[in-house]
This record gives sequence, C-alpha cells and structure tokens, in this order.
Amino acid sequence: MSDIIRLLPDSVANQIAAGEVVQRPASAVKELLENTIDAGATEIKLIIKDSGKLLIQVTDNGCGMSERDARMCFERHATSKIHKADDLLAIRTMGFRGEALASIASIAQVELKTKRHEDEVGTSILIEGTEFKGQFPVNCQNGTTVSVKNLFFNVPARRNFLKSNTLELKYIIEAFFRVALVNPDIIFTFYNQDKTLFHLPSGNLKQRIINLYGSYYSNRLIPVEQQSAMVNISGFIGKPEFAKKSRGEQFFFTNGRFMKSPYLHHAVEGAFRELIPDDSVPSYFIYMEVDPQTIDVNIHPTKTEINFQDIKSIYAILHAAVKQAIGKFSLSPTLDFETEQSMNFPPIPENQPVRQPVIAINPDYNPFEKKTQPQTSFSFPQKPSAPIQGWRDLYTTQQPPLAEIIEFPVVNKSSSADSWEAINELTTNRKQGVQIQNSFIVTHSQSGIIIIDQENAHERVLYERFLDETSSETTPGQRQLIPQTITLSPDDAQFLKEWDGYFRTLGFEIDDFGNGSFVIHAIPMNLETPDIGKFIESLLESLKSPGQSHKMDQNQLLSKAMAKKLSIKRGKKLHQEIIDSLIENLFACKVPGFSPDGKPTMWVISYDELNTKFKI
Ligand code: ADP
Ligand code: MG
Repeated sequence: MSDIIRLLPDSVANQIAAGEVVQRPASAVKELLENTIDAGATEIKLIIKDSGKLLIQVTDNGCGMSERDARMCFERHATSKIHKADDLLAIRTMGFRGEALASIASIAQVELKTKRHEDEVGTSILIEGTEFKGQFPVNCQNGTTVSVKNLFFNVPARRNFLKSNTLELKYIIEAFFRVALVNPDIIFTFYNQDKTLFHLPSGNLKQRIINLYGSYYSNRLIPVEQQSAMVNISGFIGKPEFAKKSRGEQFFFTNGRFMKSPYLHHAVEGAFRELIPDDSVPSYFIYMEVDPQTIDVNIHPTKTEINFQDIKSIYAILHAAVKQAIGKFSLSPTLDFETEQSMNFPPIPENQPVRQPVIAINPDYNPFEKKTQPQTSFSFPQKPSAPIQGWRDLYTTQQPPLAEIIEFPVVNKSSSADSWEAINELTTNRKQGVQIQNSFIVTHSQSGIIIIDQENAHERVLYERFLDETSSETTPGQRQLIPQTITLSPDDAQFLKEWDGYFRTLGFEIDDFGNGSFVIHAIPMNLETPDIGKFIESLLESLKSPGQSHKMDQNQLLSKAMAKKLSIKRGKKLHQEIIDSLIENLFACKVPGFSPDGKPTMWVISYDELNTKFKI
C-alpha cells in the first residue's frame, strides 16, 4: 500500500487557519489595525461597507513594504516581527504569527497598496482566495492600504453564519475601540457607509475616551495610578454613580494589548462593592505594564486572554489601586485633594501566599473609640483623636477637632463690633452645618458647598461602625436585666441560628430555648429601641429579603441592615451638635460619598461652578 499522508495544499491550510484567525469582519479589522500600529503609523483610516461584508479598508501612513515584502506578507508564517524563538518571550508588537494576511487573503479578495518612504513608486498586489492575481507598480502615498472585499466569498457557509449587519458592525466598533483606546496619540478616522463615524484627533487618554464616548464623560472619570515592582497600573475608572446595567465599557490592556480577564474584572468590581447597585457594572479603562517575560500572550491567535506568572499579586495590587482611586475621588474631582503618594508595593517574595489587602486610609483609626469611651448613643460618638488623613482632610482640615475649639464667647447684640467679628471668625472656623427641610445638611469646605442627605449619610456612618465591630473579635453587649423572650416561626428560627455567630460579633447574645423560643440576654451597646424583640424580627426580615446584595458578605449584610434600621430618617429635626457630629463622622468614614446601598450621601457644588453660574 502506498503512503497516504500528504501535506495540505497552502490554500486549504490557509483557509483552516482563517477559521481561527478570521471568524467575522471584526477579526479582520482587528488584524489590519494591529498591523498599522506595528508599522508605526500616526494616522489611520478605516472604511467599512455593509458591516465589513462588502469592504474593509485600512489605510495607514506607517513604514510601508518593499516590493518583495508586499508579496511575502501573504505567505503563511511570513512575519517581520520574530526572528528567533527567544523573541517570543519579549513580544511588544501586536502581531508575530504571520498568519493574519495569509488567512484573510484565503477567504476574500484583497488589494494591497504599499510604499515605503524611501521608494519612488509603490507596489499594488491583488490576491483572491489565496490565488495571486497580479502585481503592479503604483503611485501612492507613503504607507499601506489593505482593502478586503467580499469577505468569505468562497466560504458561503461562513458568510451565512454571520450575524445581522447591526451586530457585526457593533463587533467592528468594539475592535476599533480596543485599538483606539491604547493609542491616543494616533489619529483615527472611521467611515461607515461613507459617513464619518469617528474622527479621533491625537491627544491624551482622557481626551481619547471623551472623543469616543462623548464630552459628558469628562466628569465621569476617576484616574487610577499605581506603580509597583510587579506592575504599573494607570488609566481611569468610571465614577460609581455612572455604572451601567449593560456591559461594554470594561477595558483591560496589558503592554498595549487588549485583554479579557474575568479574574481581574472581579478585582475591580470588588473595589466598587457597596457603591453601585448589584445589577450594574463599573466602567473602567485600565492599562497595565508588566515585564513581557512575566506574561504569555501566545495562547491563541485571536483569544484575548493573557497568562500572567503571578496573577494573584496583580489582583491584589489592582484591587487596592482602584479602591484607593475611588476613595480619593468619588466625592468630587473639584474638591482639593492632596496628591497622595502612591502606595509602595515591595516585590512579593515567591511562594508567599498573597492576601487581598484591605485599603483603609488609617487602619488603626477607629472613628468611634467605643472601647475606651463608651458612647451614650449609637449615633454620635466623640471626635476621633487620630491624625486626620486622606478623606477626612476634605472636611476636617477646615474644621479643628471639637476639643480644640475655643469656648464660644457669650455675646449679645449690644456687644462691641470686635466681639461680633470674633464670633464670626469662630463660626467660620467651626463650619457648622445647617439643617434644611429637616432632611439635608448644608456645610462648606475649602472647595465648595456640600449638601448632605442626613439619612444616607448616617447609614454610611453606622454601617462602617458596625462593620468595624463585626470584623473585630466579639464586641461585648449590654446585658439585659430582664431578658426578653421572642418566639419565631420555624423558618425564622432556623435563619436566626444561621446568623447567630454574626449577631454575636455585634454584641447580641440570643440563646435558643427550643421550639422557636429565644432569650435575648444581651444587645449591642447603646442600642436603644423600644422593643428589642420586634427589632430583631424586622432585622431578620430585611436579611431575608430577596433584594439583598450577593456581592456582600454576611458581616456587610448585617451591618447594612442594622445601619438602615437605626439611621436618622429624613424629616427628623436635629440638634446642632448632632448635625456637626454627623458631618465629622461622615468625613471620618472610609467611603464617605455613598450609603451602603450605593446611594450618594452628598452633593458638592464647587466654587468654580458657582463662579460660572453667576458669571463672576
Ligand atoms: P504578523 O502581523 O503576525 O507579522 P501579518 O500577516 O499580519 O502577520 O503580517 C505579515 C507581515 O506583513 C508583517 O510582519 C509586516 O511585516 C507586514 N505588514 C502587514 N501589514 C503591514 C502594514 N500595514 N504596514 C507595513 N507592513 C505590514
Ligand atoms: Mg498582524
């Protein structure tokens, strides 16, 4: 019997490769755009007709190709980017497999026009389904134009498999965004059906995002910046209040390459926990630079996954960086933030397990000081004595701690002008809040007028306090002189048993008496509620409600439920000390800008805005 194994003809091999590389018009767009970047182009034009089924044309002003290279580039594994196997480990370019043009040419009619700067005339090549149709000298601009016509003309099954024009165009736009977002200095123009869809001038990253998404994005972005030995992170995240229900504005780029990573997505999303509703996704444009030796991009020609050597550490650093960015900026970019020095991450020793860091502005600082100074009520603990840092600077640098405030001089209207001035000065120093409509508190800082919603704000204050308690060792509760007994339905009884450990961390001591009866021996310090039994029942009720956030852990859920139950409600008139204390405690929070449900706690009107408004 004769040998039966044969090498596939090129045309067949290329078509098979094309199945991997070019699944749809958008994949061809991606490959062509990436080639222009590698060619060093500073201006790129993309023309699409019929969602790429009729025409995809990409023109660049990059390095162009010699006559020989122009022919060679359609050969499989023809690439100018890799010379030896070692190069694979240090890849910085977009392409390197030398498969894209060969694949595209096997399933479309392709025309290439290219000219190097140093050449007098350019080269034009026509190729159709791998079949070479002709080559001519042409007069053309420096750079390269690749026109891909009638994609899948010779593979009708693939053509029929394509989705609607709208959807295919959407994929193309996505591919375009992924390239445009990493190259803000390159000018891009995108024409669809002869109309300009995007014209992107050269600029910085923020300008690029705004040019892609619209000018209203300019005040939706928070910068992220983190340098470390392992990874340098930069870019922007969307402010929590603009998180959307639909996905699409989540971008990771590693060494200039778009990448998908559900794992790292989780790191970013986790930093937004409590700040956005459960069904929303934060926007982000995050750029990571790592040593190319520590990643493997060669997993699959079109797949966008990248293998990192130490993804766990990158997760931790990314999570911390995003959290810090939110902490610094979620209130309002118009406030005067001190440019905080970025955290210094020492290199993580090998084999050492990496734990997710918890970012707190000052981890030793307990805004409630409850262990040393028992409080008389839940709501308004004394002023913290810890040094003021970070978030708190926003407000409290303007406001000396209460203890430092000089006694208010007692004066009446008949006092001398001097005394009045003194009062005025002290009042300004003290920055008292004013309650309006029994619901809002108005105050001001160096940078603007701050309007606080008393209910959302107090929820935040209580939430952080409870969370603090649940995560510390068991907090002693106040013992009940006459323990109350409650009887629960079998469901609720079971539920309470499951939550018992968490309740105890807050100071509750509820013993199971059997048959659904429970005896309440202790309740959290300072919890004042007329009917503790009812309180516990309603707490269980809200913990059971289906709307609960699945992103929160038990401690967070319990703290949130307690905070919501016990917070000051809108419509309640507050004493001056309480107003001031609420302001201070809010700004002492780690995340003062939002209630645990992600609702805003305050609104800041900057003096700049006022100046504009009043045309000053
Ligand atoms: P790869 O990009 O993986 O090298 P391609 O098939 O995409 O493979 O391209 C093959 C080669 O053709 C590239 O290595 C490059 O030398 C050349 N090339 C492709 N597109 C361009 C372009 N727009 N300008 C200059 N050279 C190009
Ligand atoms: Mg390529």
